[in-house]
This record gives sequence, structure tokens and C-alpha cells, in this order.
Amino acid sequence: MLEGTCHCGDVSWTHDGAPAAVTACSCTICRRYGALWAYGHLNDDIRVSGRTTAYRRADSGDIDFHFCPTCGCLSHYIATAAKQDGRVVTAVNVRMSEPGSVEGLPVNHFDGLETWHALPSNGRTVRDLWF
Ligand SMILES: [Zn+2]
Repeated sequence: MLEGTCHCGDVSWTHDGAPAAVTACSCTICRRYGALWAYGHLNDDIRVSGRTTAYRRADSGDIDFHFCPTCGCLSHYIATAAKQDGRVVTAVNVRMSEPGSVEGLPVNHFDGLETWHALPSNGRTVRDLWF
């Protein structure tokens, strides 16, 4: 299980799955946030607690990005519509996790800016982004 908490502690999440990797995306919003996403589904393998503020980009309303209104940390995003099976795609930002729990996860790079395709693995892990 992974856990994450914003800096002040008001917002937290758990991910009961065992993500094999996290994703860094180059789109106009993810590159600004610097988020590292681990995917799952809300109230399935991902649970969130605490009051958040959400941001929905004006040009694409399919995701709400959730922040702690006190300390400003970006904790997770939630799709605004359920899939056909009723589940709601959600991603947690593992930048909120304790380093030792996520440092070995491989980082997948997704070109959300130009090609909208995954890029080949370059072997880097979360730890490599810190040092
Ligand atoms: Zn906070």
C-alpha cells in the first residue's frame, strides 16, 4: 500500500494497489505541477480524506485536480465522469509520499504535450528525480 499526505496533514490518500510505476507527463498542466501519478480508482483501490479545492482546466473538463486549501499541495486528480463499468479513474501524486516508500518506483514518461503517447523507459526511478 502507498500513502500520501499534504504538507500540513489535512489531506491524505491511500492506494491499496501495488503500482508498478508512476507517470511523469509533459502536458501543459502536469509539467507545471511536477506531479508523479500512480493510477487507480476512487473508493476502490484509492481512498482520499480531507477537504480539498479542485481545479478544472478551461479547455478540457475531464479531470479535477485536487489541492489542500491550506498548504497548496496537489494531492490527486479525479476524472469527472465514471467509466462504463462505473469506476472513476483517479491518480494520486506520489510526491506526497514518504521518500522511502516510493523511491524505487520506475518513472514512465508520457508525452502529453505533443504526441499523447508513452515514451520508452529510460530506467529512471523516483529517486533519480530528487538527486
Ligand atoms: Zn495541507
